[in-house]
Amino acid sequence: MNQEEEKFCLDCLSTNLENKTIEDFVSAPYGPAVPCRVNVSICRDCGQKNEATGANDDLRRAALEKSAALSIPKMVDLLSLHYSMAGIERALRLSPKSLSQWKEKKTTSSNGMSLLRIYATCPWLVEVAANNFDKAKVLEIVGRHLNDIISDSKKSTSTATVKQPGTYFPPEKMFYAFSR
Ligand SMILES: [Zn+2]
Repeated sequence: MNQEEEKFCLDCLSTNLENKTIEDFVSAPYGPAVPCRVNVSICRDCGQKNEATGANDDLRRAALEKSAALSIPKMVDLLSLHYSMAGIERALRLSPKSLSQWKEKKTTSSNGMSLLRIYATCPWLVEVAANNFDKAKVLEIVGRHLNDIISDSKKSTSTATVKQPGTYFPPEKMFYAFSR
């Protein structure tokens, strides 16, 4: 399928390779694992799955964007468990209704995405923002939410490890497309 496929196995240097399309899964933080079909060459000698550099970037990026879009309502809902949307918008100096619009349209700016990820992960930061980022208040706010912070810290925000039967790609690399 792809002319740029590796000609040698990256592991054992064998040339006994078979081109294949396999299903992989990609997920953004708080997003579902989205399947994508990627082109690899499988080594018949050692079983290694080889992937030419950049060969599947567009496919993975598209799946990652889909997962990121689906993560938006999830993050808004998580935040709404703790504070009212209007309260959050006031504290973060967002224009009114931004959160419900992001949630409904499943889209936001890259700045909005970063904000959502930060505040969905550490919702108590909304209170820090509401207190005008006064450092003297941080410890008191953290102290009040300590039990939640401890139990939250045991939960994974990534679904990438849930379903990856054919994954040969290190999970941390899956996030490259959204890391900028
Ligand atoms: Zn090999």
